[in-house]
Amino acid sequence: MVEWSESQIVPISAISHHLYCPRQNALIHTEGVFSDNTLTISGNIGHQFVDEEKSYLDHGLRKETSYRVFSEEYGISGIADIIEFPPDAPPLPIDYKNGKISSWENQESQVCAIALCLEEMLEVKITIGAIYHIQSKKRHEFTIDDSLRQKTIQAIQEIRNNLMNNIVPKAEYSKRKCDNCSLYSLCLPKLDSSKQNKNIFTPVDFNG
Ligand code: SF4
Repeated sequence: MVEWSESQIVPISAISHHLYCPRQNALIHTEGVFSDNTLTISGNIGHQFVDEEKSYLDHGLRKETSYRVFSEEYGISGIADIIEFPPDAPPLPIDYKNGKISSWENQESQVCAIALCLEEMLEVKITIGAIYHIQSKKRHEFTIDDSLRQKTIQAIQEIRNNLMNNIVPKAEYSKRKCDNCSLYSLCLPKLDSSKQNKNIFTPVDFNG
């Protein structure tokens, strides 16, 4: 088993940010900045139900919220929104999500990372994960297959590399992503790439 130092542990919450935009994740986890917009605020409000650590029975099905997970193999840790424990099937990790369906695939990797932890912690094999969409109350189930596992593991490695080396990737403006990003005003994605900061706390030389 790999011995990870504290600084090498990748927070699972970083995975969906990184897959959405590596710069967004680096600004949050390397630079330590965060800024809410209407999407993140509505997500926080709807998320409160799973923010408290509890265990309960729902029609005979055991459920645990804010379930802490860790993988020694992959050097990741985090908190799962909710885990269902069916009596005759492997645990089912579920992520509570607000927002647009187009961004759900990033969330699938985050759920996959939780599944990797549960497999190691509970010695089970998990093939299904789910995302619960708070606004529509719809549940999206998906297969945790080899391709999703590889994508997730690669993202973990990229995040660790960025964190360990203080890498903040340059912005690549995308209307779909940037116009919905809460960090837009800090990131300045339309700024000439030669003037984009590695570190947003360093003053930009607009005359350079
Ligand atoms: S504004 Fe765009 S480039 Fe900048 S962090 Fe957000 S998504 Fe990434």
